[in-house]
Amino acid sequence: MVTVREYFGNITNAVRTTYKGMKITLKYWVKEPSITVEYPDRIGGLRSEDLVSERFRGYLKVETSKCTGCLLCMRVCPIDCILIEVNRRDDRRYLDRFDIDQAKCMYCGLCVEECPSAAILFSKKYEGACYDMKELCVSHVSSPVPAARPAKKEAPE
Ligand code: SF4
Ligand code: SF4
Repeated sequence: MVTVREYFGNITNAVRTTYKGMKITLKYWVKEPSITVEYPDRIGGLRSEDLVSERFRGYLKVETSKCTGCLLCMRVCPIDCILIEVNRRDDRRYLDRFDIDQAKCMYCGLCVEECPSAAILFSKKYEGACYDMKELCVSHVSSPVPAARPAKKEAPE
């Protein structure tokens, strides 16, 4: 059973904690500038992607015009999230498929380091919310792209 002393103690406690909370709320409402971010809206003219650091590892992007179709990135990926198909037609090699499954990717960067033509890079894109995991498998080739010719190595002097 609650004593009279405890009863009034609880009331005093409720008033004191409410006052404390409201004091902080009023301070931020009236005096301090807003510190919350209305994600994903722009903040001061910047996009949320512009706020991440220079070396941020977001979704992978592929510059297909630089890609030679050497398949090194696909082979080095430890969890097989890259799938490339290269076929030869009319004496030229074509990239028929270049898919990266961002749902599986662990952003280790091995593919980026291994690529001799800097054709696969990290972007700053990180928003990937979707209802179906299959949507995270990004296709970087919508129609066949001629593979770039590998740069010739300069002969040692
Ligand atoms: S970052 Fe790592 S896990 Fe992701 S595709 Fe490249 S090698 Fe595979
Ligand atoms: S992205 Fe780079 S490593 Fe991958 S197939 Fe193209 S050139 Fe080779």
